[in-house]
Amino acid sequence: MDNYDSIIAQQKAFFRTGMTKDVSYRLEALHKLRNAIKNHEQVLMDALRTDLNKSEFDAYTSEIGFVLEELRFTLKHLRSWVMPKKVKTPLTHIGSRSYIYSEPYGVALIIAPWNYPFQLAIAPLIGAIAAGNCGVIKPSELTPKTSEVLGKIIHDLYPEEYISVVQGGVETSQALLNEKFDYIFFTGSVPVGKVVMEAAAKNLTPVTLELGGKSPCIVHEDANIKLAAKRIAWGKFTNAGQTCIAPDYLYLHKSIKDQFLQQFKETTIELYGVQPLNNGDFTRIVSDRHFQRLCSFLDNGELYMGGSANQEKLTIEPTVLTNVTWEDPIMQDEIFGPILPVLEYDALSEVLEGIHRHPKPLALYIFTENNTIQQEVLNSVSFGGGCVNDTVYHFASPYLPFGGVGNSGIGAYHGKGNIDTFSHQKSVLKQTTLFDIPFRYPNVKNGLKKIKLFMK
Ligand code: NAD
Repeated sequence: MDNYDSIIAQQKAFFRTGMTKDVSYRLEALHKLRNAIKNHEQVLMDALRTDLNKSEFDAYTSEIGFVLEELRFTLKHLRSWVMPKKVKTPLTHIGSRSYIYSEPYGVALIIAPWNYPFQLAIAPLIGAIAAGNCGVIKPSELTPKTSEVLGKIIHDLYPEEYISVVQGGVETSQALLNEKFDYIFFTGSVPVGKVVMEAAAKNLTPVTLELGGKSPCIVHEDANIKLAAKRIAWGKFTNAGQTCIAPDYLYLHKSIKDQFLQQFKETTIELYGVQPLNNGDFTRIVSDRHFQRLCSFLDNGELYMGGSANQEKLTIEPTVLTNVTWEDPIMQDEIFGPILPVLEYDALSEVLEGIHRHPKPLALYIFTENNTIQQEVLNSVSFGGGCVNDTVYHFASPYLPFGGVGNSGIGAYHGKGNIDTFSHQKSVLKQTTLFDIPFRYPNVKNGLKKIKLFMK
C-alpha cells in the first residue's frame, strides 16, 4: 500500500504559509479552474463518452455546465461569504463585540464516485478552495478516462502542495484514509461511507458523507399525470438511472396507476426513442458487475415495459416492473440503473408506513396538487432533500444545500453550503478593556443576587 505522508506533509506546510487563506488567492484559483474547464470542454465530453457513453448534452448539463455554474455563483459571492460575521452580544457581555470567523480546516481529502465522475470531484473542490483549504482528490477508478483528464487539468493548474490528484482504486483510497487529513468529503455508497467514517474516527476528522439509498417517488390520485410522467422519466432514466437522487421506486395511487403507466410509456418513447438500446446517446452501465446485478432484477414482479439489455454495450432499456413487493430482491437495496419498480397504494398511510420501515432516503418526490397531502408527506418523512411535483431538480439550485440524513449521509454542500462545509465557524468575543463588569467574580458583594438579575 502506498504511503501519502509526504504529499500531505507538503500540503500542511503550504497551508501554514497562509497563502490559501488569502481571498484573492482563492478567487484566482477558482478563475483558473473555470477557464481550464472551459478550455477542456470537448476533451471532457469525449472522456465521459468513453467511460459511460454520456451524450454531449448530458455531459454538459450534469457535469461541465453544472460545475461552471457552481463556480460562477461562488466567484460572485465569495468576498461577502468570507467576511467575519458580526453577531449580537448579550447584556451580560456588555462592552464586548461578537464575531464568527469562517476558517478553513486545512488539508481536505475528497473521494469521488464514478456516476458523475467530473462533477462529484470538482464541485466539492470548489468548496474546499473557496473556503481556503488545500486538497487531495481521489477520483473513481471505474471511469479512468475522465479521472485521467481531471488529473491532468488539476496538475497543470495548481502546485501539488496546494491541490493534487491521486489516482487509484480501493487500496489507494484506504491508504489515503490512513493519513491524518483535516477534513474528509466522501461521495459514494453507504457501506463505503461507514468505512470512511470509521477511518475518520481514529483521528476525529470531521466528515461529509454524500451517500445513497432508495429514494421514493409518490404519484397521488390528483397528480398532473402528464407532467409527472415526463419529470419522473427524465429523473429516472438520465444517466441510465445511475444518479444518487434518481427516483428509485414508484408508489402509484391505484386509481391512476393504469393511466399513469400508459402515459409514462409514451413519454419514455418521446424522450429516448422506440428502441433506446439503438439510441447512441443512451448512457451505459458503468461495469459488467453492475450490468449483471441490474439484469438479475429484470424478472422481479411483472414486466410492464422495456426489459431488454445489450451485454456487449452494457446498456439496459428503460424498464418498468409492476406487481413488485418490498420482499422482491430489487427492493432490498438502491437500484442505481434504468429499472423502475412500481408499488401501489390506496391510502397515503400505507406509503408512509412503507417508507418509515426503511432507512431515511437521500431524496423523496411527491406529485400531488393537494397542499395537505404535500405537507403530510413533508412532515412525516425525514429525507435528505427532494421536490414536490418534480424530480432531481433541487440538486441544481445553489440556494438549496444538498445532502443526506441518517443512512443517506451527513452534511450538505452546493452554493454557500459548499464553503460552509469546508469551514470551521470560529466564534470570537472581543472584550473591552475600558471597564470590567464585576458580577462574574466570586468576591463581589451580593454577587449571587446580582447575577440572578441577568441569568434567570
Ligand atoms: P463506492 O462507495 O463504491 O466508491 C466511491 C469511492 O470510494 C471510489 O473513489 C472508490 O475508489 C472508493 N472506495 C470503494 N471502496 C472503498 C473502500 N472499501 N475503502 C475506501 N474507499 C473505497 O461508490 P460508487 O459505486 O463509486 O458510487 C455509487 C454510490 O455512490 C451509490 O450508492 C450512490 O447513491 C452514491 N452517490 C451518492 C451521491 C451523493 O451526492 N449523495 C452522488 C453520487 C453517488
